[in-house]
Amino acid sequence: MRLTLLLSFLFITVFVNAQKKDVEVFHQAQDDGTLFIMAKNNTDVLQSVVVNIILKGMESSEPLPVTKLLEPKKESRITILKPVKKSYSYNTQLSYIKGDITANHNDQVVYQLPYKSGESYKIDQGYNGTSTHMGKFALDFHMDEGTEVCAIRDGVVFEVQESNNRGCPSNDCSKFNNFILVRHDDGSIADYSHIKKNGALVKTGDQVKAGDVIALSGSTGYASGPHLHLEVYVMRLNGQNSVKAQYQLGNSAGIPKEGESYRKN
Ligand SMILES: [Zn+2]
Repeated sequence: MRLTLLLSFLFITVFVNAQKKDVEVFHQAQDDGTLFIMAKNNTDVLQSVVVNIILKGMESSEPLPVTKLLEPKKESRITILKPVKKSYSYNTQLSYIKGDITANHNDQVVYQLPYKSGESYKIDQGYNGTSTHMGKFALDFHMDEGTEVCAIRDGVVFEVQESNNRGCPSNDCSKFNNFILVRHDDGSIADYSHIKKNGALVKTGDQVKAGDVIALSGSTGYASGPHLHLEVYVMRLNGQNSVKAQYQLGNSAGIPKEGESYRKN
């Protein structure tokens, strides 16, 4: 019994160690004695990395720490280390997160409502809503399951999850959320959440135009009923920082209010 336990523990340890990290840092030794410090993105999405290096008897070609964007499955040089003393060493500290942490949202942009012209939907919860939007600039549009969801701004599809088929009014169900993320030209991201199973009509890498139908709404994930959760954010090392996006509401630009319905022109 004890031996079995020990063996299974060893197996798990080996298995965990064998798993590839999302982002890894390594060095390539050059003939002249310098070291190229490299970072590799093993995932299918853009990653932002911040690499700090504690140097002993070495110099770095780049000011530290270095911030870099790593395209999916690509590697990139972070800096070059050169020994300047007989005894030298270095120690890297790596932080990373998916998305572009250097993005700055263009606050002049006026977003389109996320549905077809002539249609109207009620805002179940607005910016800083007390139910689940505290501290977040997110909108919940009340929509029957299967409603066509439109892109609010031009962009490129960054990530798609559409395989889940469950939802419930509890955080326990967050892991079953289906979503589409679209990246805009300023690096910000729009999150279209709770879409129905297989309800994504676009795939990663697709170009979308504002107004294009990109998804069918649903109630997957942490949802008390069918609706579209919509949020525009920029990524930072501490996570998603939502932005106070303005929308085209009739003839003027503004922020949709909880309890109101808005017809799209
Ligand atoms: Zn929401």
